[in-house]
Amino acid sequence: MKGFTTKAVHGASLKKDVHGSLRMPVYDSVAFEHESARSIQLTFEGKKPAHAYSRISNPTVEDFEQRLRLLSGGTAVLAVASGMAAISNTILALAETGTNIVTTRYLFGNTLSLFEKTLKPWGLEVKYVSMTDPDEVDSAIDANTRAVFVESITNPQLEVADCSQLSVVSKKHGVPLVMDNTLLTPYLFNTKKAGVNIEVLSSTKYISGGATSVGGVIIDNGNFAWYKSPRLGNLAKKTGQMAFIAALRQEIYRNVGACMSPHNAYLQSLGLETMSLRIEKSCANTMQLAKFLEQHAKVKAVHYPGLPSSPYFAIAGKQFNNKYGGLLTFDLESREACFAFIDRLQLIRRATNLNDNKTLILHPASTIFTEYSEEEKLAMGVRPTMLRLAVGIEDHEDLLEDLERGFEPL
Ligand SMILES: *Cc1c(COP(=O)(O)O)cnc(C)c1O
Repeated sequence: MKGFTTKAVHGASLKKDVHGSLRMPVYDSVAFEHESARSIQLTFEGKKPAHAYSRISNPTVEDFEQRLRLLSGGTAVLAVASGMAAISNTILALAETGTNIVTTRYLFGNTLSLFEKTLKPWGLEVKYVSMTDPDEVDSAIDANTRAVFVESITNPQLEVADCSQLSVVSKKHGVPLVMDNTLLTPYLFNTKKAGVNIEVLSSTKYISGGATSVGGVIIDNGNFAWYKSPRLGNLAKKTGQMAFIAALRQEIYRNVGACMSPHNAYLQSLGLETMSLRIEKSCANTMQLAKFLEQHAKVKAVHYPGLPSSPYFAIAGKQFNNKYGGLLTFDLESREACFAFIDRLQLIRRATNLNDNKTLILHPASTIFTEYSEEEKLAMGVRPTMLRLAVGIEDHEDLLEDLERGFEPL
């Protein structure tokens, strides 16, 4: 099996189903019985690959994890309750009070809020730099830095950093590079090849198969020497390359309890099988819409890394194999014009999500970023004149017709 879609469809079955079911069933049970006291002991010690209790592991969730391991080329994968659970569990495993992470203000709104409002009061220092300036990243990293955290395409600024440069810098300091790859998934961007150490995903988006369920994934790409980690070094003596995932499974993830439900794992495995087809269509649609908007007289600016006018066109094309994802933003002359535009649409939905099968529109400044002041919004690249379009898999002619409708004078 070589192709992404073949792997996505056939998966990596660990065990044959007792009834020969071609699809991993939903094991909606909490506890798993063992034939002896010794067997359950070994399972608890992490020495036997078996299940005991579904907050720690579950066959349906494991099937989903193994599919993603096969697709990403990672060494170990952990599925969790949401994208935010993936990010918070990762940071809790790497950092602690008195340490810091190096990141950017160009972050998914809740991620920024997690760093600033939830983890800072626990004693985590958060250093903000520009990820497109590797020298700035280099000088921000110090002896207490536990991670460099970046998104593969930032939302809604649509900035693309040079990942191999960032990996050189973080490697020089022996700090893991963590990437939120939600907007691209392993289908469009193989983070392991680019030198990323930990990939996190909100599987709620492209993976879920049309916004069916909330979920998250943590992938250890297997390219960080955990024995060098101040937090995980001791564990690495016992578990080697598996130290990061072992720390999560045997402690942090287990104790925090944000596990993925078997039902969601079932839906997301189903979504994974058709993901590449949906991503192809959504990328092609987004390109059509970006070109249409760019030539429209009432549009002040369009931001999409797939347009030659984008400052990230070259690096995105190189990193993501000339595909640029399903998210674009564009600016109209005022906030009022944005609101009127949204309200005239008849096909495109007014909702906050992305990589749904349906195309969705949102005014980020008045919704996702509402908790921030005007100055903070501008520092985050969130303008009052900006609309965000998360493009689905509809026929592009219908989407273009609806955009035309949005521009009609009142
Ligand atoms: C949606 C999203 C998240 C959060 O994922 P949830 O599944 O909603 O918790 C994190 N990062 C990015 C880039 C996202 O788009």
